[in-house]
Amino acid sequence: MTFSLHGIGASKGIAIGKVHMVARGLVDVPEYFVEKSEIEREVERFGIAVAEARAELGAVREHIPPDTDTDIAAFIDTHLLMLDDSAITSAPIRLIREEGRNAEWALKLQRDALVAVFDAMDDDYLRTRKNDIDHVVNTVQMRLLHTEKPLRRADGSFAGKIVFADDLTPADTVLMQHQGVAALVTEFGGPNSHTAILARSLRIPAVVGLHNAGPYLRDEDTVIVDGRKGVVLVGPDDQTVRHYKKRQREIERIHAARRKLRFAPTVTCDGESIVLQANVELPADLETAVQVGAQGIGLYRTEYLFMNRDEPPGEEEQYQAYTEVMRAGEGAPVTIRTLDLGADKQVDGSRPGAPVTSNPALGLRAVRLCLKEPGLFRPQLRAILRTSAHGPVRMMIPMLSTTAELAQVLELIKACRKELDEAGQPYDKTMPVGAMIEVPAAAICADIFARELDFLSIGTNDLIQYTIAIDRVDDEVNYLYDPLHPAVLRLIQMTIRSGQKVGIPVAMCGEMAGDARYTRLLLGMGLKEFSVHPNALLEVKQVITESHVRESRKFSQRVMRVIKSTTRSALLEEMNRL
Ligand code: PEP
Ligand code: MG
Repeated sequence: MTFSLHGIGASKGIAIGKVHMVARGLVDVPEYFVEKSEIEREVERFGIAVAEARAELGAVREHIPPDTDTDIAAFIDTHLLMLDDSAITSAPIRLIREEGRNAEWALKLQRDALVAVFDAMDDDYLRTRKNDIDHVVNTVQMRLLHTEKPLRRADGSFAGKIVFADDLTPADTVLMQHQGVAALVTEFGGPNSHTAILARSLRIPAVVGLHNAGPYLRDEDTVIVDGRKGVVLVGPDDQTVRHYKKRQREIERIHAARRKLRFAPTVTCDGESIVLQANVELPADLETAVQVGAQGIGLYRTEYLFMNRDEPPGEEEQYQAYTEVMRAGEGAPVTIRTLDLGADKQVDGSRPGAPVTSNPALGLRAVRLCLKEPGLFRPQLRAILRTSAHGPVRMMIPMLSTTAELAQVLELIKACRKELDEAGQPYDKTMPVGAMIEVPAAAICADIFARELDFLSIGTNDLIQYTIAIDRVDDEVNYLYDPLHPAVLRLIQMTIRSGQKVGIPVAMCGEMAGDARYTRLLLGMGLKEFSVHPNALLEVKQVITESHVRESRKFSQRVMRVIKSTTRSALLEEMNRL
């Protein structure tokens, strides 16, 4: 039986392989004892969660299209029956009443007992049924925990597998990449989440926002993932597999042709020289950046150095890591962004001890967090300054929103310089300091920031999120995520013009810069520096070398004037056909 599941394409590429379901049984469950007087209330809480889980599965069953294979409905019916089974519904109640355990803990203990029985079975098919237990138990756990997106740590072996998870953190993605995962598929998440960006930079085909797909997939199912279209084909027949293998070979041929552009200068048809640099997060990106001939690193996301570890790296370790990047770039300029932790960039998947905030993207992230914790910030500032002794380094501050923050940062940098002078440690006294323009307030006041800084770089991922008020990781509002929104285009234009007026360079390092559909538009708006993920660099370079800036300028002005979004997209397409 072949059927397709449709989500959002987050990272291009085709993968064919077997499914590996992760984290289904790894919900972080609180364990505590309940006061005697609260036991009946706890039993009631459990009963409500089971009823809600039943309603949820019932709703999923209702949404199965009538022409879909009946097996799928039967599969959900199995889960509904399990929710009526005393092994899942009554046994935890006994544990709550007799042992005073909280509902989540009682359910987890019962799940472990059931899974142990299945694990001991000889029959492969029956053994895989334990996934069903996890699906059902997790549906109840999520109701108990009132969470849709529990943060979980993934583990296990992912070599060559198509990993399916409800959601993945960037930290999980990194761990999986190390194990050679073939593709990622998630129920939640948008195409501009850090996990999606990471998948693109790791060249892992990825589909996100595949709602309610869990019940349709099982461990070891053969699937094809088309990361461009956002489609997952389950149980493909031989002919379909042959077709997709052919597509894989075609994609490889296109890449091979683009690789020839590596040594070509980045100059438009009418002679404008453009700076085309790479965004780097992981050491592997650096290798690709060099391979594709990037003219330096326009965004080095340092937060990945801080992930999957207990203690943050000290000054010395950071200095070594940054100079390593410098060396690998063979003398090309490197823009090191100071720490941008917080919101969807957590140091690990579980955020131990982090306070629960209702709007993390509006909270203590990036430069705000760094200014609050100078013990974290100063070693990084010193490490970046010291790296500047070895080659052209630029320091870039993320998420600036007020000039007071900028003044504080500049003051701290001054203090670090003084310390280095006193210790006789070398650094480049003219090292440029710039900022990311990724908050509307900063874009609107870009002229003021431009006067205090040596360069600006537009971070469209956050700029779009904050301008249109859409959470970049929430796929429910992803349909609103539009780089062509007039408000976004105006803010970009204002930033570019502010830089031009003061005479400082303005780059763009958000994902918009790496999407070749927007290259001509941005050239026409006056952008002269692009920093893109290395895997997109040659495609963007191809468009630049086939463009005329003067012609693009006329089209860009028209795109900016158009009110209707469909007309805007049509104009963009026309522009790209020139
Ligand atoms: C951006 O916001 O556009 C950006 C490049 O920064 P990040 O994606 O790391 O938040
Ligand atoms: Mg950002």
